[in-house]
Amino acid sequence: HPHWYSSKTGIYNSIHSPRNIPTDPFLDVVSFIFSHPHDGVLALIDHSTGSSISYSKLLPLVKSMASGLHKMGVSQRDVVLLLLPNSIYYPIVLLGVMYLGAVVTPLNPLSSAGEIRKQVNDSGASFAFTIPENVNKLEPLGMPIIVVPENEKVLEHESFSCFFNLIYGNFDLSQKPVIKQEDNAAILYSSGTTGTSKGVVLTHRNFIAMVELFMRLQASQYEYPCSKKVYLAVVPMFHMYGLSHFAMGLLSLGSTIVVMRKFDIDEAITAIRKYNVTHFNVVPPILSALTTKAKGVKGSKLQSLRQVTCSAAPLSIAAINDFVQAFPNVDFIQCYGMTESGGTVAHGFNTEKFHNYSSLGLLAPNMEAKVVDCNSGAFLPPGSSGEIWLRGPSIMKGYLNNKEATMSTIDQDGWLHTGDIVYFDQDGYLYLSDRLKDMIKYKGFQIAPGDLEAVLILHPEIVDVAVTSANDEEAGEIPVAFVVKKTGSVLSLKDVIDYVAKQVAPHKKVRKVVFTDKIPRSATGKILRRQLRNYLTSKL
Ligand code: AMP
Repeated sequence: HPHWYSSKTGIYNSIHSPRNIPTDPFLDVVSFIFSHPHDGVLALIDHSTGSSISYSKLLPLVKSMASGLHKMGVSQRDVVLLLLPNSIYYPIVLLGVMYLGAVVTPLNPLSSAGEIRKQVNDSGASFAFTIPENVNKLEPLGMPIIVVPENEKVLEHESFSCFFNLIYGNFDLSQKPVIKQEDNAAILYSSGTTGTSKGVVLTHRNFIAMVELFMRLQASQYEYPCSKKVYLAVVPMFHMYGLSHFAMGLLSLGSTIVVMRKFDIDEAITAIRKYNVTHFNVVPPILSALTTKAKGVKGSKLQSLRQVTCSAAPLSIAAINDFVQAFPNVDFIQCYGMTESGGTVAHGFNTEKFHNYSSLGLLAPNMEAKVVDCNSGAFLPPGSSGEIWLRGPSIMKGYLNNKEATMSTIDQDGWLHTGDIVYFDQDGYLYLSDRLKDMIKYKGFQIAPGDLEAVLILHPEIVDVAVTSANDEEAGEIPVAFVVKKTGSVLSLKDVIDYVAKQVAPHKKVRKVVFTDKIPRSATGKILRRQLRNYLTSKL
């Protein structure tokens, strides 16, 4: 067997050399990001207005944000809700909170009032940043709200600009708290392998390890410097994929990030041309939209584009082939990661002579993996599929206030049980075969079936419910609800769909309903979701 796999321990190691993660116990991720020298000029550009933030202004702005928050009464370890869409100010808010030793909890700004309340209560958030449209959803919660207006109006808006005005007066945080690597930095929500959404606690150390990975991986890829790379930030920064890239990792390298608030294929193409975007991080539906555009418009070359990275959800071989054909000069890679792993687990690599588009890439440096047979628990060699377990410095500390879920996800030896079924080939390239966990991926967005079941079961005419996914060409997967109605109920399929739609963020809507007499359950009462999924597949 190759040197990166030990048949004795069953452990896969990265073929890269180990990384140098700082050992100083008193280090916060913000200081780490800004300690790396680079010659980047423009940090963030708003794609529609062209307003920008330069690297020379970035740290002063972050400090001023921290200082403003401190004056407002935010203390170390306080939790701050970020109910924000992508903007050039997102990274400043996020890093400002972390610089103060406070903890961010990001959430999709399209979330319903109920979803927001749930996360605020669970995370213990006591301050919030949001956009004007969401103020009414937050007001009943009685916490101080800082409104981040549309970009062009930022400096006119009192509650937000006060932080920026501080730049001219108060640069330094007089009492910068002592932050340890092991301190909490963020709580992101994920359902993990089963159940409802849980708070994934990530420490400064987890993020330092993640940022260090960027320093290694991104810097090694091309001959030209990272400061010359221009990224298009469409994927949301409230999710680990966007957060790790655009609010942290790439800012340590001096790359330029062109920020889009909401995905629109035509605007994305305009932005690529206007700002000479070189790198584009996408999810499968965006990749397909790009391919379709290139096919439809002859000569719609995007000459500046050098690399497109797809992540967050499975991609079909056909979609990959179509893209590569449409964009023969673009380097296409996939990347694999999850909220609980603190971002990137594996990262694609192509060379001039060798490319492997369908693989999720090679194991990231410092990440260890095992592939385990789900039935026997035996570890498996290259070529065999099983559940992937992960261990490394970026892996989450655990689920917030949930020992049971933490212990069933991270075992005594520190292995994170991912619920993904994969195999490594003989060269160390990783492939995803299946997903064991309940999680649904709609256009790359995560949906916890348990969250939708919790909403549905409260309907007075529903006695039992199970949510699973059906495959969907455009979205990848869509959530489907199997519903047992009360006898005599005249509830229609549309009633059920509308009932859920009112209570959840748009991407979480149930898109199909099946009425049934009974939900299949195991002897221990667990919903047999696979049986439901198979039923849906057989119907198609
Ligand atoms: P999240 O925590 O929302 O990032 O979801 C993580 C999960 O998304 C992983 O455990 C995988 O099941 C899936 N996933 C992430 N990246 C990929 C990828 N490149 N291809 C297929 N599935 C992926």
